[in-house]
Amino acid sequence: MRRIRLEKIHNTPTLWEKGGGGARAGTAVIIADSNGAPKQPMNTRSMGVRHALFRIEPGDHVIKANHRNLHFNIKVYRVERVITGTNHNLYAEVSLVSEYRMGKWNPPLPTYLEAAADAAVKKATCSHCSAAHYADTAPRTDVCIWEEDEDGTWWTTCGGSFVFVNGGSPTEDRFAYCPYCGRPLEEYCYEEVE
Ligand SMILES: [Zn+2]
Ligand SMILES: [Zn+2]
Repeated sequence: MRRIRLEKIHNTPTLWEKGGGGARAGTAVIIADSNGAPKQPMNTRSMGVRHALFRIEPGDHVIKANHRNLHFNIKVYRVERVITGTNHNLYAEVSLVSEYRMGKWNPPLPTYLEAAADAAVKKATCSHCSAAHYADTAPRTDVCIWEEDEDGTWWTTCGGSFVFVNGGSPTEDRFAYCPYCGRPLEEYCYEEVE
């Protein structure tokens, strides 16, 4: 089974949508959910060729595309499980669903993955690509997201803000629900970005 290296962000396995290119060459990594649909990004703060960060779970799909002069090689993988390597890195163990080579999909690409594969082609030919091509950016209503800023203030999607006196976090202080809106709480700690 093949492995894709994941990035561990506060114990969450994640992967970036990244890439870009032109007519002569380009690459793209696209992430889709188990139904081939775009996922809700953890953030969409672009950093160079990295454009949106996604939490990776079993069942997700990772599409890797590259081309030379528009001759594409595209691999569509399904995440079977997330494992910790002996070096403590996180990996997705993936199986190959379909591969596009020499102008053909082998085996044929399931229709529910066509949109994601198409996004990979577009991204790999997108010059100066600076934004996510395949992300569900509709605001979530099932949870209240708490995002920490660099000063340790937590900002909530329902419009609140909160500071833990001990510098803690919602999980450390056992906040399962947002006290402002009552929805289940999902937290994103501040990440130092170099
Ligand atoms: Zn683009
Ligand atoms: Zn809330």
